[in-house]
Amino acid sequence: MTKNFNILLKIIKYSFKLRCPECGIGKLYEKGFRMYSHCQECGLKYEREQGYFIGVMYINYGATVLLIFPGYFFLSLFTIIPNMLNIGLWCLMSGVFPTFFYRYSKSLWLNIDYTIDH
Ligand SMILES: [Zn+2]
Repeated sequence: MTKNFNILLKIIKYSFKLRCPECGIGKLYEKGFRMYSHCQECGLKYEREQGYFIGVMYINYGATVLLIFPGYFFLSLFTIIPNMLNIGLWCLMSGVFPTFFYRYSKSLWLNIDYTIDH
């Protein structure tokens, strides 16, 4: 139990720091959305095969849904915000959030896959 919890903490820590899943030191991104092909510290190849990062969309979509739907219902139930404004706000967020979260989704995907398949 403690071992699994530590593995989960490692995944979260390395993912949200955008670090290499092997060493935890090397950065995943050069600048903006441009990713290094290999870890600058340990040499781990990030994109293991063509299409490897397709699974990122599942994480990004899931995180967006987990934010948008509860957010809409929370504002709907606990504020007096007009419904059309509430819908508009969350439509806007459904475009902004995945863009912001994309790098973290990619990092989560890489760290989870590396941990499971290594
Ligand atoms: Zn590394």
